[in-house]
Amino acid sequence: MHLPEKFCENMKELLGAEWQAFLACLEEPPLRGLRLNPLKCDEKTLRESLPFAITPSPFSPLSFYGEAGERVGALPAHHAGMFYSQEPSASSAVTALDPQPGERILDLCAAPGGKSTQIAALLEGWGMLWSNEVVRGRADALLSNLERMGVPNAVVSCETPPRLCGALQGWFDRVLVDAPCSGEGMFRRDEGAIAAWSPEHVEACAQRQRLILDSASLAVREGGVLVYSTCTFSRAENEDTCAAFLQSHPEFVPEAIPAAFGRPALDGSPARRIFPMDGGEGHFVARFRRVGENRQKNTPFLGADAGPARRQAEALYKELFGGEPGPTGIFGGKVLLLPEGLPDFTGLHVLRAGVELAQAKGKRLEPAHGVFMSRSKADCLHTLDFPPDSPLLLAFLRGEEIDSPTAGYTAVCVNGVVTGFGKASNGRLKNRYPKGLRLRG
Ligand code: SAM
Repeated sequence: MHLPEKFCENMKELLGAEWQAFLACLEEPPLRGLRLNPLKCDEKTLRESLPFAITPSPFSPLSFYGEAGERVGALPAHHAGMFYSQEPSASSAVTALDPQPGERILDLCAAPGGKSTQIAALLEGWGMLWSNEVVRGRADALLSNLERMGVPNAVVSCETPPRLCGALQGWFDRVLVDAPCSGEGMFRRDEGAIAAWSPEHVEACAQRQRLILDSASLAVREGGVLVYSTCTFSRAENEDTCAAFLQSHPEFVPEAIPAAFGRPALDGSPARRIFPMDGGEGHFVARFRRVGENRQKNTPFLGADAGPARRQAEALYKELFGGEPGPTGIFGGKVLLLPEGLPDFTGLHVLRAGVELAQAKGKRLEPAHGVFMSRSKADCLHTLDFPPDSPLLLAFLRGEEIDSPTAGYTAVCVNGVVTGFGKASNGRLKNRYPKGLRLRG
């Protein structure tokens, strides 16, 4: 691995006697792991659904080391959203955020969704997660991951931090800024991060991080928590960014992280660092509390629909799950099951609020993949269940028609966990697994 000279100089200064140990770690293969998704299954079901062993990590009770390998995305357990592929130390930022069920959480730089899906797991379906990503193409990946993981209570937006945080001032109990950074902690797994590195890039990242934090501070309610994290080692993007933030925002104070991973920050603040020598790749996490007042400007969302569309949605919901849906809304021909406690989002670029129940096809409503992903097997009236190595399951995931003794819309499950649906009649299940998600080969 050829490391930039200036980077080595900086790291020698930062690590002192540990520099050689750091270099030796960089020669090791990158760490691999995954995070259990308790919205979809328990640890036992996950272990039974994986072809490799996993061992706990110190960064989160949901996070495990495991040889997931390149083809991890092809595993049926992955399609079913039982886990999120994530290097374990990346789970430390949400451990520091410590979201509680029922709270309103903003993940301001959220794509592709590693942290957002962890926050959703800790909310346990209660409260609201607002996941924002400024880059449109990346926001689509974020939406797809939240859907795969069956998150029922998320809003996905594609906004700049100043616009979003200005509109939702004081709305959130906790805000996460997992900032774009120079990615020095990714050097072991991504040669591209080495090629993109320069002192100028580090400085540009630091400037951008300060602007993002300025915006984020607005969104935190009085008494709320702000967590700042990066996957880089540079002092300029970590301790110095935090010091500059606190200097210009006396309404925030630094706070201890409620977990003991990694090691203390370089400046004696309560922030934590994780180096490869600490069982991770490279992370920095700082936590602040807003002690100054903040005026909440926003009002609750009042736009739930009524009338024939609502009645049609109720009928479809009953056909699929047998019960009554909560609040629904229609946006761009899609019927959504809305999260409770939405703020008014007029004027914001929202890609999704809650779960897609159905899409209007002429006068009919066609059920959506998203609603099945967010439901348990017990919720669904008709189900087929397969072990992860079943040829019929793999055929379903490839988009093929399979035999089915059921009639009507039928959830297809892996070890009891819903992974999609089809429509059964005359002994055959017509496949509704989305084309873009299908297994190839
Ligand atoms: N939290 C994500 C996860 O766990 O999957 C990773 C986030 S990544 C470190 C930082 C994100 O910030 C990227 O998706 C990037 O597109 C986004 N970003 C880039 N420039 C930004 C800006 N000026 N404001 C806000 N976000 C930005």
